[in-house]
Amino acid sequence: ESFTCQGRVYLRIKWKIYVLEEVQKELLSFGESGMSLMEMSHRSKEYSKINNDAQKAVRELLHVPDNYKILFIQGGGTGAFAAVAMNLINRTGSADYAVTGTWSGKAAKEAAKYGKVNLVFPKADKPGSIPAESTWTLNPDAAYLYYCDNETVDGVEFPYIPNANGIPIVSDMSSSIMTKRVDITKFGCIIAGAQKNIGPAGVTVVIIREDLLGNPMKICPSVFDFTHINKENSVHNTPATFSVYVMEKVLQWIKKNGGVEAMEAQSSQKKTLLYDAILHSNNFYSCPIDEDVRSRINVPFRVGGPQGNEDLETKFLQEAEKLKMFQLKGHRSVGGMRASLYNAVTSDDVNLLVKFMNEFRKQYG
Ligand code: PMP
Repeated sequence: ESFTCQGRVYLRIKWKIYVLEEVQKELLSFGESGMSLMEMSHRSKEYSKINNDAQKAVRELLHVPDNYKILFIQGGGTGAFAAVAMNLINRTGSADYAVTGTWSGKAAKEAAKYGKVNLVFPKADKPGSIPAESTWTLNPDAAYLYYCDNETVDGVEFPYIPNANGIPIVSDMSSSIMTKRVDITKFGCIIAGAQKNIGPAGVTVVIIREDLLGNPMKICPSVFDFTHINKENSVHNTPATFSVYVMEKVLQWIKKNGGVEAMEAQSSQKKTLLYDAILHSNNFYSCPIDEDVRSRINVPFRVGGPQGNEDLETKFLQEAEKLKMFQLKGHRSVGGMRASLYNAVTSDDVNLLVKFMNEFRKQYG
């Protein structure tokens, strides 16, 4: 069977069985309705149930306390960068940003349109590390401290939750949500685009502490206004109903399969398998990221030595594709390879990748 290491949820066999087949079954008639969910009003009782069940599933899976609200918005992760600032920066006019790679960099740039942004450490020339927390310059008047839990492009993941001395912490968990347990009480707000681990593109999950609502900037569009969206239970206008519907099924699948705890155990197993293969390759494969902040989810690596050998890398991709392993090419901004081990990728899949890597090394190393 074919599989992809990028592992967007809708491409995987396992998810196909549990989620896509159900979607397929219901595509022509949702329940007895004779209609697809796509055709239904977002005010229908059917969609209301899906909306509420999806919120409930997020709450259960991540053990979200009652004083946090769960919202579904559109505009992707990038929309949420702006929304975070427009909803939260107003309290003091400035915010702290820890920029550890591409996505936190973009978030900081976006927020600077709406208030003062303080970078808590200078931007590194080459991402791949996180400066020790003791060296960060936190602004005591910041409205919040922002960081990206897992930098999807760069392969840097926070192994801890920063200490912001009581200032609300905002985290982008687009690529790490539901891959590990999270102590929600440590956060003011979490944002996560669904399309990596929990569903199709089109819906972004926002988890926000209740007391942070109520202070949006006047210019904040209502589609990004967390206070308003919360009041309207995420149906103030037409939501991405089909995306929420599929996401709800994925969340139920995670629940049935051991919850976030099981996803975390699988994630750590996959991480060990792949990094061990890199480590024991006599430098044929190399990972440019500091060991203590290596992502469990997005693993960038070079082929043919620490600087990478582009001819070998092209060959590597071609050979991998013959084995139906797709999307191993690194992001265009960093080059090399990147294996993305989202929830839909199993340990068996990673074993296959490792087997291929070992054979490729024997042949070309
Ligand atoms: N944050 C992270 C961590 C991401 O990986 C991405 C997308 N890959 C984004 C934000 C941006 O998401 P979108 O494309 O939905 O705007």
